[in-house]
Amino acid sequence: MIRPSQFILVYGPGAILEGRRGPRIIPGLREGLLRGDVNPEDFEISDGGMLKAALDGKRIFKMPSKEMMKTEGVERPYRTAPFPRWRMCVNTSGHEGAYLLYYDRNPQGGPCPACGVGNPGATRFVRACPDGHMDEVDWYRLVHRGDECGGTARSGLPRALSGNDDTFYYRSGGPISSVVLECPRCGAKEGLGTAYGRPWPCSGRNPESEPPGSGKARRPGCSKNSRIIHRQASNLRMPVVETHFTTGPHVTGVHVCMKGGAVRAALFAPGRDPPGTREDALKTFEWLHEQGQLSADQMYDIRRSSWEVLKDAIDGARKKPEGGFGDMISGEFRGLLDAAENGAPPEGRSDSGQALFEVERNSTRGTILLGRELRVTPVRRLRTITAQTGFRRMIASGEAAGGPRSDGDGPEEAEEVDIGFDRNGHRWYPGVEFLGEGLFITAGNDVVRDSKAAREWRRTAKDGYSPHVSQHGLFRELDPAFVWWHTLAHALTRAVGEHAGYSSTSIRERVYVEGRRGGILLYATQPGNDGTLGGLISLAPHMDRILPAAMEEVLVCSGDPLCRRQEFKPGDLNGAACYGCLMNSETSCEHRNMWLDRHVLLDDPQ
Ligand SMILES: [Zn+2]
Ligand SMILES: [Zn+2]
Ligand SMILES: [Zn+2]
Ligand SMILES: [Zn+2]
Ligand SMILES: [Zn+2]
Repeated sequence: MIRPSQFILVYGPGAILEGRRGPRIIPGLREGLLRGDVNPEDFEISDGGMLKAALDGKRIFKMPSKEMMKTEGVERPYRTAPFPRWRMCVNTSGHEGAYLLYYDRNPQGGPCPACGVGNPGATRFVRACPDGHMDEVDWYRLVHRGDECGGTARSGLPRALSGNDDTFYYRSGGPISSVVLECPRCGAKEGLGTAYGRPWPCSGRNPESEPPGSGKARRPGCSKNSRIIHRQASNLRMPVVETHFTTGPHVTGVHVCMKGGAVRAALFAPGRDPPGTREDALKTFEWLHEQGQLSADQMYDIRRSSWEVLKDAIDGARKKPEGGFGDMISGEFRGLLDAAENGAPPEGRSDSGQALFEVERNSTRGTILLGRELRVTPVRRLRTITAQTGFRRMIASGEAAGGPRSDGDGPEEAEEVDIGFDRNGHRWYPGVEFLGEGLFITAGNDVVRDSKAAREWRRTAKDGYSPHVSQHGLFRELDPAFVWWHTLAHALTRAVGEHAGYSSTSIRERVYVEGRRGGILLYATQPGNDGTLGGLISLAPHMDRILPAAMEEVLVCSGDPLCRRQEFKPGDLNGAACYGCLMNSETSCEHRNMWLDRHVLLDDPQ
């Protein structure tokens, strides 16, 4: 069984899960999870409105764990369906010396239809297109090279093969390039290597939107080409996730629960003044608790909070949530800058329950990097809400038929498939809360110096790009300051991994640019309430050593001189950057390894 955090960060609707019963597809939320009476509102993550605003009013529910579902009286948390359904029997003595590839009509699986042996496993191959469609490989079309099967059953061919168009011989010599597929009826042959290398029409199928057990697949067609791909390839499905931090001078559980819809409605009812004393406020909260709008835990925190804290939280909730992703990001940045200066929560506020954002006062340290004064602030505690909003199938469809195959290419081409679903007039997305820690690095002033690369990024207009290469289409990414900070984030993430014994894949990044100021937050989280690991913040005092180490690979890349010879020009997604120096795991980069340039970080003059 996968955990809610894995569901959000790794799998999700449309992903293929490798289970004991073979590969299975995770259906959409409506088809797999939220059928019947499960109401996402019972699991809503109230975050103080910022994330909701950033998602344009979309709502997040906590991906329920098995235990949570049991409490709600739901036995099977999430249904899945077998996919792909083609199987391969490797009992060569049962079918003329070849493996048998066949479509399994029985969703539960069973013995090979020709030789009756065992419980053959599923094929490794599926096909997918950059619009997000996925289907079985069209083996019939593949073997016959687009023609009809001209064969009549040869004498001696078992009935299971003569009377079933969905059975083919698979003659394997090892690598894909030496595999030959053959129709047992007409003798047509095709190499799997050839088929693998060329584009195929897309059927337009979305298997995740078919309720498990519903029978027929819908294949409306599609204008894009699809490609045959390994079912476990990482580019077959890349989740699109959004993370929000709860930052601010004094964010506590009390502050967060004040911003819930029902609580705000009760506090700020028209024609009534908000509570003016602690007693008044508690009366309102006790009533909300009776109505089931505040949990026992939340009441516990509220009852032991001083009037000062309650009043602060109520005042904070009065403000309407800000709008849009850009505002959310700048809100986070302001919260971090303020905490770096004053600490969070500010002193004297330790009675306000467990803080969700904690920065020790006077813990910011200065350091010099490449002639810039940087400030490093350890963030001891950080709450994140991560929601999965969609996924992409990173398939290079190779529009020119017969064009060369280039796996992993074409991220700008892949369309995001939205996984939200509508319930009670809102659009819902699954999310998960984490607690963790972080390193916030900023500078007092502009870090970008004049260089050819910086000028080139600056003069680049967003018109030359497809809107989905940019986070929320804002194109903050073309600002050379963004590139400078993003490039530093990547170099530092690698150095922390290599020099501090910290898994760099577990470190995530956030890049801030606002006017002339900018910064990065590197953070690590884990699920549950005990997320503080301490490993990342313990590095803060050693930045004088770690930052120069981070520069080593930026100065000299194993891919040089080729890597350094790359120069950004309008329309490009990167300047000088490659897997040898800057590109990190997909889990740690928020920007799909785009918008990186060694020349900008190093002020290369030429
Ligand atoms: Zn068999
Ligand atoms: Zn045939
Ligand atoms: Zn398609
Ligand atoms: Zn490189
Ligand atoms: Zn990145």
